Amino acid sequence: MPSLTAIITEIAEEMRAETDRGQVANYIPPLANVDLGRFGMAIIDAEGGSHIVGDAEEAFSIQSVSKVFGLTLALNAVDAGLWSRVRQEPSGSAFNSIIQLESENGIPRNPFINAGAIVVSDILTSQYGLDGAQNELLGFLKPMSSDPDTILIDRDVARQEEETGFRNKALANYMRTFGNIHNPVDETLDLYFHQCALTMSCRQLAEMGTYLMTGGINPRTGERVISTRNAQTVLALMMMCGHYDGSGSFAIRVGLPGKSGVGGGILAVVPGVASVAVWSPGLNAQGNSLLGTRALERLVQHTGWNVFRAS
Ligand code: GLN
Repeated sequence: MPSLTAIITEIAEEMRAETDRGQVANYIPPLANVDLGRFGMAIIDAEGGSHIVGDAEEAFSIQSVSKVFGLTLALNAVDAGLWSRVRQEPSGSAFNSIIQLESENGIPRNPFINAGAIVVSDILTSQYGLDGAQNELLGFLKPMSSDPDTILIDRDVARQEEETGFRNKALANYMRTFGNIHNPVDETLDLYFHQCALTMSCRQLAEMGTYLMTGGINPRTGERVISTRNAQTVLALMMMCGHYDGSGSFAIRVGLPGKSGVGGGILAVVPGVASVAVWSPGLNAQGNSLLGTRALERLVQHTGWNVFRAS
């Protein structure tokens, strides 16, 4: 097999030539104004090697990829207690759908749709308080990075998320009527919006995924940051629910646990082998990065990293 750097360099060239790049998210200017031509990819391997290409060092809004990290903190805080408040099943619905909440008593299908991630934010707000939870999140993430100082929450993005977040407010208020939001809705959503506004580069995002590559250990410090069991749970949920109503086709095309965000980032994990981040801001109809998905599909064709592969 050629080197990983050679493989991703070839993939980046292929992606540069693509004319159909999808559509950038347009609900807030910081996302709408991103250049559709951006493309970056980063791999951190199990030996600690880093392989990057294109715009892999440029910071972007990771949006819903952050739901992986919120879920990790919530599992650490309340462990299996989480599963009475949010289920573990694929939704088959759009990321911001409200429809299943009515017949399912305000219990979201999984922690990666917006409703589920808002419940996770509520749990973290109960556990750590309004500002404490944001600090906890950053305090969890930064030790995974070789340059932690540039991992931050973009306050301007968070404010605009709040100003335009009518659907998320509806979801939170609706779940509160079922008793599944325990804090004032504004406080729970404050954490949700700030979590969505996490900003980092592809390389840093790949570094963030290393604790899932290792079964729960931050390879930089050797410290266990989540139990093996819960690390596997997070990966299973990424495989089943990480791309909303596009999760099935992502699993078939890429065959890796992955989580997308409307900023155009995707984090994918090859257990025991690698943590991969890709960024291309143009989205497909399900709100997942169009070329990011294609690039991961190509990577897996080159490397054989599809977890369903027999040998
Ligand atoms: N901020 C977005 C929202 O809450 C995140 C959605 C996403 O990345 N899929 O709607």
